[in-house]
Amino acid sequence: MELSSFIRDVPDFPKQGIVFKDITTLLQEPAALKQAGEALLAMTQGLQIDKVAGIESRGFLFGMFLAERLGVGFVPIRKPGKLPSKTFSESYALEYGNDTIEMHQDAIKPGEKILLHDDLLATGGTAAAAARLIERAGGELVQASFLIELSFLPGRAALQSYDVRSLIQYDSE
Ligand code: AMP
Repeated sequence: MELSSFIRDVPDFPKQGIVFKDITTLLQEPAALKQAGEALLAMTQGLQIDKVAGIESRGFLFGMFLAERLGVGFVPIRKPGKLPSKTFSESYALEYGNDTIEMHQDAIKPGEKILLHDDLLATGGTAAAAARLIERAGGELVQASFLIELSFLPGRAALQSYDVRSLIQYDSE
């Protein structure tokens, strides 16, 4: 089954000029949902993973599935002000301005091997900031996994020191 056929392009969302890759259409389809989850899981084969970290909010969907199937814990990486205990925080540049993500300081122990997951890799700014959070806690990022990669954008270059894997690639908008 061609998973990309379940992803809906929404032009000009959330703003003019962006083609939004909507995964809700894939989530609705049981066979596609299962195939995507199993394929993301297969990409981790042979790796030792102690925890999965998922990026708010769409990284929680398959991130939780992967954690459960791998038999490890899940760490939410969230937008500012959402996590109740002590956090590390990292900012990254957007086209206009900055954004910040946070992670609980005690969510990852030094030496733990971490699988990072998000739904989509675009410029890589979000995932690179998440990698810094993981490393500030002493974790080792063993794979950055994405359902979708926009390979016409420099996401891989932003994550060049990591093992980057994606299930569906788009070469152009
Ligand atoms: P980036 O930091 O540029 O790699 O952007 C990745 C983050 O923004 C992910 O959390 C995505 O969910 C979201 N994102 C960026 N571009 C798109 C897009 N075209 N469609 C859907 N989500 C996107």
